[in-house]
Amino acid sequence: MMQKQNYKIHIIGGGVCGLIAAKTLEDHGFSPIIVEATNFVGGRVKTDLIEGYQLDHGFQVLLTAYPAAQKFLDFKALELQNFLPGASIFKEGKENQIGDPLRDFSLLFPTVFSSLIPLKDKVKILKLNIQLKKKKITAIFEEKEKTTLQYLQDFGFSDEVITQFFKPFFSGIFLETQLETSSRMFEFVYKMFGTGNAAVPKAGIQAIPDQLKNQLKTTEILFNTKVKSVIDGQITLEDGTILESDFTIIATDSTALLSNSSKKSIKWKSCFTLYFETEKRVIAKPLIGLLPKENSLINNLFYTTSLKTARNGGKELLCVTVIDNHGLKGDELTQKVKSELKEHFNIDVLRWIKTYEIPKALPDLKEIKYTLTATESRYSEKIFLAGDTLVNGSLNAAMLSGEHVALEVIKTINGRI
Ligand SMILES: Cc1cc2nc3c(=O)[nH]c(=O)nc-3n(C[C@H](O)[C@H](O)[C@H](O)COP(=O)(O)OP(=O)(O)OC[C@H]3O[C@@H](n4cnc5c(N)ncnc54)[C@H](O)[C@@H]3O)c2cc1C
Repeated sequence: MMQKQNYKIHIIGGGVCGLIAAKTLEDHGFSPIIVEATNFVGGRVKTDLIEGYQLDHGFQVLLTAYPAAQKFLDFKALELQNFLPGASIFKEGKENQIGDPLRDFSLLFPTVFSSLIPLKDKVKILKLNIQLKKKKITAIFEEKEKTTLQYLQDFGFSDEVITQFFKPFFSGIFLETQLETSSRMFEFVYKMFGTGNAAVPKAGIQAIPDQLKNQLKTTEILFNTKVKSVIDGQITLEDGTILESDFTIIATDSTALLSNSSKKSIKWKSCFTLYFETEKRVIAKPLIGLLPKENSLINNLFYTTSLKTARNGGKELLCVTVIDNHGLKGDELTQKVKSELKEHFNIDVLRWIKTYEIPKALPDLKEIKYTLTATESRYSEKIFLAGDTLVNGSLNAAMLSGEHVALEVIKTINGRI
């Protein structure tokens, strides 16, 4: 009988999914090997330190209500910094703060008296909150899917509240401007926002994969090692090296790695994230700023420095998300964003710091699932699949599918012993 530690279990991809798969295997006595193309873990979850500022690769938040985050992360050690449960909507140069007054009292008066959202929609928002708080996650993912826009219209929300609030807010989350994303994802995310906090670790979003990596004791990580193809029992690297593998978990988009994959290649949603230094903050509270304006470049903005950060470059750091770049890039994009900042938010920037172009930010999935079934994660006798591209674009899905796939491998091995 082979000793557990002697099984060669390779995990392709050291993103959040691959790290959770490794942790789960370790917890059951195995010593996996992560094969990672880059020189860092975390994949899409990365933070750069530039001129003293923490720059996340794209504006991302951890929803503390994510069941997988509660299971796998040590929130206290991450020193999570919470956003206020609301948004600051900029219309005709005027700031309108709205939010959940039951969770943050300071949002009571601005929300109740905001003329931006009709009263009947405020009541409906409350009704939706209550309904989704009670609804089980499993029930959400069993619902028939429709677009988020259709869902909101069917719920009876007015065009006004959809345009002023839901479109800009959820476009920033789904990274698409038409609210075409599945209603299952909308209900799930809305429920998560309503039952927990949106937060980022004090040291930036990369503290999440860093924490997961630091928990690994017997996992070997091969950095700068790109996989070219995978067949049962063998992994071929870009440099031609062949790795023998008892079990291979592909914790990234697998379509290019499997020659006879029946799966169609993944479509991706993209975004641009621009960082600027400013002298002062136009939004004092840690609230996301929204611009509900057709054809504008800016979707949302957030002052990274409105929350406590481990490092700080000395002034204020502004993070701006552009979803539809209207074909603009480089300096043209920066200049147009700067002029929109001035025109709509009255923000003067001191200087541009960096732009991230993220072509593969979220998978554009037609059928959203909560996690994988055994048949979905098993590709062949020795190859298993995981990652958010098979489930839904979220940290929760990446973690859950990582755990699930590792347990499937363990079940297979135990069945043999
Ligand atoms: C801009 C942006 C905003 C987001 N906002 C949120 C948010 O607010 N909340 C939320 O929950 N989620 C958000 N997400 C989604 C979340 O980041 C992802 O769902 C999650 O990180 C996916 O993890 P993963 O491990 O499945 O994939 P990845 O992070 O993509 O990891 C895959 C890993 O595999 C490696 N790899 C790929 N190919 C190979 C190869 N051939 N050989 C070896 N290694 C390979 C990659 O280098 C990478 O490290 C956002 C993502 C982006 C980009």
